[in-house]
Amino acid sequence: MINKSLKQLGAALAAKEISSVELTTLFLDRIERLNPEINAFISVDRERSLTQARAADARLAAGQGGPLTGIPIAQKDIFCTTGWRTTCGSKMLADFVSPYDATVIARLHDGAGMVSLGKTNMDEFAMGSSNETSFFGPVKNPWDRQRVPGGSSGGSASAIAARLAPAATGTDTGGSIRQPAAFCNLTGLKPTYGVVSRYGMIAFASSLDQGGPMAASAEDCALLLNAMCGFDERDSTSLDRPVEDYARDLEKPLAGLRIGLPKEFFNDGCDPAVMAAVQTAIDQYRKLGATLVDISLPNSHLSVPAYYVIAPAEASANLSRFDGIRYGYRAPDYDSLDDLYMKTRAQGFGAEVKRRILIGAYVLSHGYYDAYYLQAQRIRRLIAEDFASAFKACDIIIGPTSPTTAFKLGERTTDLVKMYLSDIYTIAVNLAGLPGMSIPCGFADGLPVGLQLIGNYFAEARLLNAAHRYQAATGWHEQRPADIDLNG
Ligand code: GLN
Repeated sequence: MINKSLKQLGAALAAKEISSVELTTLFLDRIERLNPEINAFISVDRERSLTQARAADARLAAGQGGPLTGIPIAQKDIFCTTGWRTTCGSKMLADFVSPYDATVIARLHDGAGMVSLGKTNMDEFAMGSSNETSFFGPVKNPWDRQRVPGGSSGGSASAIAARLAPAATGTDTGGSIRQPAAFCNLTGLKPTYGVVSRYGMIAFASSLDQGGPMAASAEDCALLLNAMCGFDERDSTSLDRPVEDYARDLEKPLAGLRIGLPKEFFNDGCDPAVMAAVQTAIDQYRKLGATLVDISLPNSHLSVPAYYVIAPAEASANLSRFDGIRYGYRAPDYDSLDDLYMKTRAQGFGAEVKRRILIGAYVLSHGYYDAYYLQAQRIRRLIAEDFASAFKACDIIIGPTSPTTAFKLGERTTDLVKMYLSDIYTIAVNLAGLPGMSIPCGFADGLPVGLQLIGNYFAEARLLNAAHRYQAATGWHEQRPADIDLNG
């Protein structure tokens, strides 16, 4: 059961081979046994999960279930939940219980009938690429426990890779679904900006943040995206578009698909072993009938600098709400209102979050705004235009997800530039608001390598199709870490 796809689990539940309560118990038992070592979950509440599972079983018995009803899923701790506390990986929210569910959570629970296994570990306020900025401690990569699972959705990735959950939610502001998916041999999809509601998803950089699915395969991601997406009037950037079935094109042959290879993604900034796996994947796509086209994204080298102005600027505004008055942590001793604010924020936020707030406040301040923030917004436009011209010549773009495989715990915590460059291939996608995926494409020194697929706006079904056909032909996504107890 722990190695089945969501489709297979749905079939097993429908055929009454297993009940949702039994399936949920199986995963909860694994979490209890293996999580102390992996640290993928921040909060687990067995009774609450089982209550949901009983409701799902009742729905299935009444013939009112959908394809995902009764299937367990782990939730990134950035999504507000009324049941479990919502910490966002921060001391600031360590005891925060939301009065409402995020739209994504409500859709998965009430809409699809999925069962939450708990809340997964993450970089504090989603700021990081290694899960090492979490107040709740680092997460270990099940492929090598000396290594990071990636970030910021590191707990979600690690949970799926260790089969503590068959799937999970993630969020991606600059790569946080795709890079951990790459490091843990998973499939992750960041949708077009506006496809998945941000209501109840704690804001980091609102113009870049997007929730999405993480799972073992493209087919699983398609089913999850169907359940997560849709217009939400409570998110002013949610797009009111007709509902689509993201699984509809999965089996379509790839003959004639034009794949763009941006020359900027194939330079010496990428680890040669990662590049070798990516090249083999490109050959595989050629065998599947795709045509390869050389393209250029001439401003992509500016994406990391532009992002580290725009994202902190938005974060500094978004995080101003954590002031000790309305939400979360409050410093125990203070002399005045100002003192309360200062002590609460000094004690409640970790170093990386403080650094981002400082940078953000600086680039927005009078006298610096034009030089930094406005300039970064101009670069953002150029990057979006680069993609627009590229998509005249190709249907999807392919390259590495990350320049390296999973790095060692502690390796980059003192070299922030190196840490920030972990997202050199993923960030431009967020700046342009495009959909992007990472899929497993082989191994380098025993560690998973991710292949990134980038689509034009609303081309999720096409990306999932390209990913699914590749997965059917190669099977890399079926590899599991060797030292994880997979016996139930
Ligand atoms: N690693 C990037 C950062 O630290 C992106 C994080 C994300 O996508 N949430 O900001």
